[in-house]
Amino acid sequence: ILPVLAVVGRPNVGKSTLVNRILGRREAVVEDVPGVTRDRVAYDASWSGRQFTLVDTGGWERDVTGLAARVAEQAELAVAAADAVLLVVDATVGATDTEDAVVRVLRRAGKPVVLAANKVDDQKAESDALALWNLGLGEPYPVSALHGRGSGDLLDAIIAVL
Ligand code: GDP
Ligand code: MG
Repeated sequence: ILPVLAVVGRPNVGKSTLVNRILGRREAVVEDVPGVTRDRVAYDASWSGRQFTLVDTGGWERDVTGLAARVAEQAELAVAAADAVLLVVDATVGATDTEDAVVRVLRRAGKPVVLAANKVDDQKAESDALALWNLGLGEPYPVSALHGRGSGDLLDAIIAVL
């Protein structure tokens, strides 16, 4: 049984793109428009000789009414079944009410959390990532799931908590 890392966050922040980046292949479905149900969400991954299971979340995103509560609820379920959590935030948007709700859930769960500040595609977006220190989850790791920027440091942080 491998340690489980749950990937949580709002629709469209780039969770599935980041999962594919970590896997090094396109298995998780990336959607320009959120809302299609996916049943397969668990993938085996490895980094620096450490193996773990990645659980992508999503597929429940069709109804945007009460989004914050729904994302928080989904995070709660994913976290319950995980050893650690990767919270993905779109750094270009910043933290919203949804992130605040998810952070409350994560605090209660008491499991290790790694914070990915995604969509930091270039140097000038680095400052967007710094703003996410305000979530109180420690260091935000700036990454571009799309281009691969920062993914090595993020993975080092992930295996350190698994
Ligand atoms: P999910 O709903 O959180 O799983 O998000 P997806 O992985 O499906 O991505 C949503 C959209 O964001 C897609 O159009 C992706 O191509 C885009 N995206 C994901 N990561 C990045 C990134 O690092 N930079 C940019 N510019 N776009 C990204
Ligand atoms: Mg997705």
